[in-house]
Amino acid sequence: MIKINPNPYQTCTLCPRQCKINRLEAPFTGLLGFCGESAQLRIGYVGPHFGEEPPITGKNGSGTVFLSGCSLKCCFCQNHQISREGMGVLIADEALFHRIKEMIRAHHVHNINFVTPDQFVPDIFKVISLLRQSDLHIPIVFNTSGYQSINMLKQAEDYVDIYLPDFKYSDTTLAAKFSNCPDYPQTALNALSEMLRQKGFLDSCRDEKEIATEGVLVRHLILPGHTENSINALSTLFIEFGKDLPISLMSQYHPVGHQDDEGLNRSLLEEEFVQVYTHVLDLGFENLFVQFLDKNGEQRTPSPFLPDFRTKKPFGSRV
Ligand code: SF4
Repeated sequence: MIKINPNPYQTCTLCPRQCKINRLEAPFTGLLGFCGESAQLRIGYVGPHFGEEPPITGKNGSGTVFLSGCSLKCCFCQNHQISREGMGVLIADEALFHRIKEMIRAHHVHNINFVTPDQFVPDIFKVISLLRQSDLHIPIVFNTSGYQSINMLKQAEDYVDIYLPDFKYSDTTLAAKFSNCPDYPQTALNALSEMLRQKGFLDSCRDEKEIATEGVLVRHLILPGHTENSINALSTLFIEFGKDLPISLMSQYHPVGHQDDEGLNRSLLEEEFVQVYTHVLDLGFENLFVQFLDKNGEQRTPSPFLPDFRTKKPFGSRV
């Protein structure tokens, strides 16, 4: 049964952090939940993005909407400016709807891709409803950390077509250290099960379509110095969901600021990538997307995947 909170921002339990604070009063009390957001919708960027997997990006790009704040706040977040450092602008639901409509008109993007929508889902649901009322039936993507509440996902079922969740950690100690979230592995596995129950595997893998319109694709970013976490995470996914689960193996990690963990202060080494890549092939996943390292075994600097939300084009030219 879905629990509907009449005003979800009043006693916020939108994500598994379950802060239960009144986000409506945050501008007066200054009291914010873990995500760092009040009840006023804020965004970091709206625009086409060419760095997602091919069935999501297509040739026209994915229409991304980056939301400010985050309920996970990993210390290494590649979008740290908006997820951890408070960057973003206030926007009304109607205004966001018009920005999205304009993006669709100007760029013919293949989908609308809400990046970390958890902390603002009531507003996002309204924006999606406005798109549908305008006969803009474009696939809706929820691009998430994997740390989602089942109740929120059940409410999202009728609004979302594609889930792009991460599965970041199999190791509870690492989840606690990097994301202050020791319950991440089990919570994320439960969330992935719910997403798969709703949408199944990404349809472009099932039906060999060029552009995806529905389904789930799970991402895993390999963290430098922590290949064991990756190997166990991928084994867990294989055991839980089988060889047909669409997987995206990502190597784009780029250090952000100074990190206490030694590995996180560098990019991924070629031998680390090969170790995890070999394991994923040995497991026998059949729907695999792989982001290979550059030929010299290192990521370019500045990284084309590390956005700078202070600029008009955070992702530079096409990735
Ligand atoms: S969305 Fe934010 S305030 Fe609400 S429970 Fe999650 S972290 Fe806490």
